[in-house]
Amino acid sequence: MRKESMRSICAKLAQENMRDDIGKTLRLLDKMKETDPGLEVRFQCGRLKTMLWCTGKNRLDYATFGDAITFDTPYRTNLYSLPFGLFMGFNNHFQSIVLGGLLLTSEKTSDFEWAFTNFVEIMGGKAPVTMLTGTKHRWCRWHVLKNAKDRLGKVYSKHKRFKHDFNKLITDETNIPAFEKKWCELVKKYKLVKNKFLKRLFKHREKWAKPYFIRIFCAGMTSTQRSESANHMLKRYIQRAAPMHLFVAKFNEFQSDSNDQEGKEGFVTNQVNRKMRTGLPIEDHAHTIYTRAMYEKFYNELFESGKYTIKSKIGQDEYVLTDARADMEDAAAYIHVRLQGTDRVTCECGLFEHMGMLCRHALKVLVHLDRQEIPPGNILHRWTKDCVERSLSEESKSSLIVHNDKLRKKMLLDKVFEIANREATLSETAFHQAMDAITGSSSPDPVLANSDYPNILTATFTGQLQPTACPPRTILGGRPPNTGLKS
Ligand SMILES: [Zn+2]
Repeated sequence: MRKESMRSICAKLAQENMRDDIGKTLRLLDKMKETDPGLEVRFQCGRLKTMLWCTGKNRLDYATFGDAITFDTPYRTNLYSLPFGLFMGFNNHFQSIVLGGLLLTSEKTSDFEWAFTNFVEIMGGKAPVTMLTGTKHRWCRWHVLKNAKDRLGKVYSKHKRFKHDFNKLITDETNIPAFEKKWCELVKKYKLVKNKFLKRLFKHREKWAKPYFIRIFCAGMTSTQRSESANHMLKRYIQRAAPMHLFVAKFNEFQSDSNDQEGKEGFVTNQVNRKMRTGLPIEDHAHTIYTRAMYEKFYNELFESGKYTIKSKIGQDEYVLTDARADMEDAAAYIHVRLQGTDRVTCECGLFEHMGMLCRHALKVLVHLDRQEIPPGNILHRWTKDCVERSLSEESKSSLIVHNDKLRKKMLLDKVFEIANREATLSETAFHQAMDAITGSSSPDPVLANSDYPNILTATFTGQLQPTACPPRTILGGRPPNTGLKS
């Protein structure tokens, strides 16, 4: 076949693909809804302005991992020039997870407000504790480091130790006065006081440096790096010039592959036995409750705790620690750890508030006191092995129950089993009441006829106001660019 005819076939196919794009998109969403009753889609209508969609899995995940989320618009589709926004979070395996997708025609404040309001509504009304958005409010640490590499290349090659010292400072230091003091010492030591890049970094330190964020809960997400990497992954799945229905379909594919990855990690967490390394009971406890990824982080802190010594004790429950190798003259080198009974331990470094994990300092004190387990007040449910199952049995169930026929039936069955397995006898009255409720002798068929409920399982989005057309195209007809077919 000649090149020209090949190209004309491709152009025809591409045009065919773009015809009735909105209709195809809506039909695809309806189809998705059939297999995923938890799917929620919201539009800003007329000619499509905004579309937000969250799958049932996104919503379940949000119930467990919605405490800290990021929102960013890292990706732009070419065909309609639509920014694509991603709500993302972190699961208990430290994997980034998608919590919702958003197609926007403009990036006005009012559009974002619409999106956030609807997102929280879809998620059952619970707003996230922390939401990191783009680079408007803070600098991405990953970018800071990348820029530093580019801008300080000469310095790096001239002073071999500088890179090491610089990285150590911005990675390890969590105390504000200590950070500022060490920064000044560092630039003096390497004669970089006048370096423009470093001056600017220091001026804006509140936008990126660790000590200023340490007490803000972020579940370990320190930057928008997560959505950056999502952008890279998305690029592999979706052609920028894809029509909307293909975009949605490919995004589904992307999500389902990510789910497979999660499944694998879950399997490893449950099946693979890890070797204890310190022999301390508290390590064993962490191993029992945490996922593999979380346990590894915990282990690292436990290991690092060995570098600290307890200097003194204030009152009954406060300990003063110091780095065994630190300069004792330095007031910033002292760290205070407080016990709150047996329930909880706090440390001024703020790591627990930041990511829900005990720090090396608190662990030093617990090991010193021969504590066998992590105090209950320091175990964040979201990092445990069974957090999803537990959430499912609690709050997310109630929000999903309206939408999910299978879940309703399963819950009913669970309850029956629970009652049947109770030691206490079932009174005759209770029996008749339950029987009446189930068989429907007191009200007309309450279980089988679900006419009282919106029948979402088979419903389409027909009831909802739907967009009438796609946004105006920025690429007109013909073969879209970047289809990979080189001419
Ligand atoms: Zn600490």
